[in-house]
Amino acid sequence: MSLKSPIGEREYERLKKFARERFGISSQFKLVNYQSGTLGTYVRQKDTIRIDCRLRRKEFILTLLHEAGHAYCTKYGIFRDFHMVSGRIYSDISRKEALSYMRTGIKAERYVDRIAARLANEFDPRNHYVSNLAEPEQRQYLEVNRKGFVSAGLLKPRKRGELDGKI
Ligand SMILES: [Zn+2]
Repeated sequence: MSLKSPIGEREYERLKKFARERFGISSQFKLVNYQSGTLGTYVRQKDTIRIDCRLRRKEFILTLLHEAGHAYCTKYGIFRDFHMVSGRIYSDISRKEALSYMRTGIKAERYVDRIAARLANEFDPRNHYVSNLAEPEQRQYLEVNRKGFVSAGLLKPRKRGELDGKI
């Protein structure tokens, strides 16, 4: 059974086109049903943006544009130390690369999230989008999954009742 986006097929198509055009990327998009609390991810090796289809409208739009921001950074070499470590095998990463990843990660996340909020307001002007990645309790961490791949981890505080997750 194919998964459905929370914003309807037509608007989902419009959002993907908007993201590709505004970021100058040609990434693929894939709806997923994460069990881990992850909101979305960008898979660099496949140039694919994955978004959890159970997110509510505003969060879905913001998350898609956030992940598209990572695709943009990857393509154009912005915060390169951060984006080029994501998705690699942990044992292949040097200590220097790991430290650089940790140091630049929060800046990279804030950068893409600010762009995502601005574009979300443009795409969906009836709602008000803000980046909430500015709070000091946020921490960047280097996560290694069961297969040994590094992922871009950031704990993002959410309002009560919203999903907690990695972005
Ligand atoms: Zn992110």
